[in-house]
Amino acid sequence: MLTLPKLIYKNPEKGKIKGKCVFCAENTEFGFEKEFSGSFTGYTNLYAGDCICEYCNAFFRDQGYRKHSFIATEEDVFFIKRIEITDFLLDPPDPPFFFYVSYTYQKQGWLGNFDKVNYSKKKFFICTENNIVYADIKDTKKYIETAKNLRECKIAKKDMLSGNLSVNSLKKLEEQNKIYLKQKIEEIENRRLWEVIVYGIE
Ligand SMILES: [Zn+2]
Repeated sequence: MLTLPKLIYKNPEKGKIKGKCVFCAENTEFGFEKEFSGSFTGYTNLYAGDCICEYCNAFFRDQGYRKHSFIATEEDVFFIKRIEITDFLLDPPDPPFFFYVSYTYQKQGWLGNFDKVNYSKKKFFICTENNIVYADIKDTKKYIETAKNLRECKIAKKDMLSGNLSVNSLKKLEEQNKIYLKQKIEEIENRRLWEVIVYGIE
């Protein structure tokens, strides 16, 4: 199976342990000891296994993947800024690719999700720090337009996420003849995708 670490590392350093990898559940003959620092909190996302495979080991040792949002392809890794997220949602690189969005730049949100490699530019998974998000380009376009319109009306992101517009926000929409946007927020079904878009919008 093509996992996120295999997408990035073609020829990683090899270990000596044979067995099943706790990160990706693949078998290897070149694994490393499953040793974690005291601050490691991802135990609930590990598979039962014997070692860390050479691919996952290389990925896990690189702090850059914890401290950035990124898109990985077989050729490249693009570390992306928050405000670039919506552009990549609309036009991701050619598959296969893996899309990771970090909110706090501290968690290892990809743990347990190394298999979420995408094979379509129109319907794909985004792995975030908190969950897996399914993105369909039709929803993505619609939601980005709604989010942009709301931001132009100076609606707070907190209101956009809760879906309950404050009296103050409603007043702003009325004043700008954009009260129909209230309906647009209420119609949003893919809350997880909406959360990514609201985070990424200016
Ligand atoms: Zn592995």
